[in-house]
Amino acid sequence: MIGLIAATAAGRRAATELAEALGPDDCRLYQGPVGESVRTAFAECTQLVCFLATGATVRLLAPLLAAESSDKHTDPGVVCVDESRRFAVALLGGHEGGANELAARVAAALDARPVITTATDATAVPGLDTLGLPVSGDLAAVSRALLDGDPVRLVGAELFPLPALPANVTPDAPADAPTIVVGDSLVPEGDVPTVRLFTPSLVVGVGASKGAPAEEILGLVHAALTDAGLDPRSLHSLASADAKAEEPGLLAAAAELGVPVRFFTADELATVAVPNPSDAPLAALGTPSVAEAAALLAADAAGTAELLVPKRKSAPEGRAAMATVAVARRAVRGRLAIVGLGPGARDLLTDRARTELRRASVVVGLDQYVDQIRDLLRPGVRIEATGLGAEEERARSAVRLAQQGLAVALIGSGDAGVYAMASPALAEAGADIDVVGVPGVTAAMAAASLLGAPLGHDHVSISLSDLHTPWEVIERRVRAAAEADLVVTFYNPRSRARDWQLPKALAILAEHRDAPATPVGIARSVSRPDEWHRVTTLAALDPAEVDMFTVVTVGNTASREVAGRFVTPRGYRWQA
Ligand code: SAH
Repeated sequence: MIGLIAATAAGRRAATELAEALGPDDCRLYQGPVGESVRTAFAECTQLVCFLATGATVRLLAPLLAAESSDKHTDPGVVCVDESRRFAVALLGGHEGGANELAARVAAALDARPVITTATDATAVPGLDTLGLPVSGDLAAVSRALLDGDPVRLVGAELFPLPALPANVTPDAPADAPTIVVGDSLVPEGDVPTVRLFTPSLVVGVGASKGAPAEEILGLVHAALTDAGLDPRSLHSLASADAKAEEPGLLAAAAELGVPVRFFTADELATVAVPNPSDAPLAALGTPSVAEAAALLAADAAGTAELLVPKRKSAPEGRAAMATVAVARRAVRGRLAIVGLGPGARDLLTDRARTELRRASVVVGLDQYVDQIRDLLRPGVRIEATGLGAEEERARSAVRLAQQGLAVALIGSGDAGVYAMASPALAEAGADIDVVGVPGVTAAMAAASLLGAPLGHDHVSISLSDLHTPWEVIERRVRAAAEADLVVTFYNPRSRARDWQLPKALAILAEHRDAPATPVGIARSVSRPDEWHRVTTLAALDPAEVDMFTVVTVGNTASREVAGRFVTPRGYRWQA
């Protein structure tokens, strides 16, 4: 039973609504003096929601907690909701009393925000079921141990790029501790609560005669895996020869298994060295192997993967076999997330970026960007922060760590692909790692929202930094943008050592624009505490107002200042 205690009219309204949402049969509304109500409800209910200030609630609870009968393991969980329903605070009994969970339910029902302060929930232990892997086993028991900080044994951590895990999760926890097993092997049921995470590591190569029935292929796939001690839930894909691309039984088997099929040409298959070549496919298709060669090729492009099960034939009763399979294991694939943090303000960091920061076990970035998001990282995450100028080293080290099979987040301000880390990293990265990009709000966009609507028509960004780009190239691009009447946003516009480039670039634009009538927006430290911006004109701009934390946006011939805002019309015709 959930006891609801309210002191004011607004509180009683909220309590009634909450009871509706949680199910009136599960709730009891306490009327009358709140002290009395809290005491009674504390004795009668398993959980309490107090529509009272936390201070008042703490005072009322204190004597109850000091009493002999009070017990941390059995006391009710208590949630407080403020008068204007902004917050649902888990006050007491976060885990065992269920207050954390209740706060989340109350918040959802009343459109409030849950406030949860117990360490493990606040730092969000990764949900074992949120990693995108098939999961089985005693999720509840293992998650509880994880949250309560009890020892949890981790087996096979190196087989999948896991996020940073709390310190209580270790390979050398006692054997009778709740266990997480990562991998693709069949594990016998044991006595300890165990969660299995199935890595997508198995590829089955399939050879099939024309008309081979799906059941025959399915039976053979299943037998080949389980006889070898492999769990079918780790199946990543099937592979075959492209002569079989329309084979109904093969396609039906893949659909039934819920995995894709990759097809290779006979020439591709023929290049792979296999243990059991044979003459039949050589005559029919032009490759001495289908099942083994396709499994090996699909598992890794070089065809050098580990063959776990050599070619094996089906054994249907009373007729010739129509299917062969072989099983190969894919190498561990690291994960590189390239994450844009936005221009600075926390609320311009996307939810997806947040999720990726928590998905990582290593974060690589410029020290000042790491500081910007340090509080969002999981405890135990490895941080590789380096200073300005170490861009290539950062990119290379992020890729190297991912190649080691880790979950890496490479961070950058704004969008990490705009004058930032994504391109140097991907120039180094091979096909052996998974790459996930998370877009961020780039400086030009953040500045535009501040200035008005300067990017309403075609526009470009140009970096004025001639550290990596010869000035002639930059100048050619500025001239092209000027001639093409594009709105231009300059990144890296000016520093102490580079002060002549901006005036030069503006002069080129002025050759093609009416300088006194062309709006120019200057936006510095957008969305940061020292944010500053101004709309001026191409004729009046003072370069001294521009530094390295600034972008400068210059209008096209149709851009205008309207009520102090920089506006570029979407078209030319309607404007006239
Ligand atoms: N990846 C970043 C750009 C890096 S280049 C992005 O997408 O925004 C660095 C330049 O970006 C700075 O010299 C400045 O011109 C611009 N910049 C970055 N953050 C900014 C901010 N908050 N306000 C204004 N300009 C910014």
